[in-house]
Amino acid sequence: MVADWLATRRRIAAFRYKLLAWYGAHRRDLAWRHSRDPYHIWISEIMLQQTRVKQVGEYFARFLRAFPTVQALAGAGEDQVLKVWEGLGYYARARNVHKAAKEIVALGGLLPDTYEGLLALPGIGPYTAAAVSSIAFDRDHPVLDGNVERVLCRLLRFEEDPRRGAAKTALIGAAERLLAPGRAGDFNQAMMELGARVCTPAKPHCGECPVREGCRALRELEDPALLPRKTPRKPRPHYQVAAGLIWKRGRLLIAQRPSEGLLGGLWEFPGGKQEEWETLAECLAREIREELAVEIEVGECLARVEHGFTHFSITLHAFGARWKSGEPQAIGCAAWRWAAPAELAQYAFSRADRRIIEELGLGDLEYSPGRSNNGERA
Ligand code: SF4
Repeated sequence: MVADWLATRRRIAAFRYKLLAWYGAHRRDLAWRHSRDPYHIWISEIMLQQTRVKQVGEYFARFLRAFPTVQALAGAGEDQVLKVWEGLGYYARARNVHKAAKEIVALGGLLPDTYEGLLALPGIGPYTAAAVSSIAFDRDHPVLDGNVERVLCRLLRFEEDPRRGAAKTALIGAAERLLAPGRAGDFNQAMMELGARVCTPAKPHCGECPVREGCRALRELEDPALLPRKTPRKPRPHYQVAAGLIWKRGRLLIAQRPSEGLLGGLWEFPGGKQEEWETLAECLAREIREELAVEIEVGECLARVEHGFTHFSITLHAFGARWKSGEPQAIGCAAWRWAAPAELAQYAFSRADRRIIEELGLGDLEYSPGRSNNGERA
């Protein structure tokens, strides 16, 4: 039946026409849509992955102010890039954008203008290669993100779980068949926009949908929102994590995470995941010993922050603590610093650690030697 739908040329032509007309009249005025510069389009597409459009707006402007060209980005330090990206999450994107910029500059300074050339760069997968090659270079490549998947599943009444490999291949084939040749950039953006604003996950606005006449889910199902069919994911595990605000002579010990992996390259208040056999205070003392070879005296818990990652969530318990002995060593981290509270703003922290800084007003503290802390100073 999916094949039947796609076999009718007149239906496909009508679909393209209505979708593009709707997009022309209703598309949102987004900063990156004012630019044809491939560098701008690439940065916006990377930022838009797993992040809301509204949030990207501010970061996009800030990023281009800091790094107006691919050369400026390539010439920056990773710390600078992470600092500008701070709060946007999924930091591997920032590190990969930085690596890719260096490769682009080494290749002459121009972004590759083909799907294959883009795909060869760090951090660019099939989705981003298709999006950038179609939007920036008018290449006829269809995109398939969550929004497009949803529209296609409903339009064609596609009943398989779109996350499965074979189903994904079938959906890319369908998107390819529907794509408006020569207008791939607009077509792809129109499909994504339709999914984001009209064919929404829980309650699609079918009455306002420009392609409702051809939609099989609307015609044949009691509720189009029954599609896409997705097998439920396993619940995310939840961990208890202890972090230390470890004071020594008015300065706080902060550690930089190894550059690869979760939150790679970001700074944090050191600590780690609680094991079953220990209290949070014991966990903190153990982690600081193992990661930094430092002995501490753990004080009281000053703040708690809930935070979710893609595959797990945490409760972060921030303890006041006092340095007792040991020169820090970067055993389980990339680097460490004794930072005055006023200096914390210079470092890129994860969102959870930044919330601790804000909740405790740490960034507002002035250095005053001799005051002890839980917020006290040693
Ligand atoms: S008619 Fe409804 S279900 Fe079908 S594509 Fe439009 S919004 Fe989605």
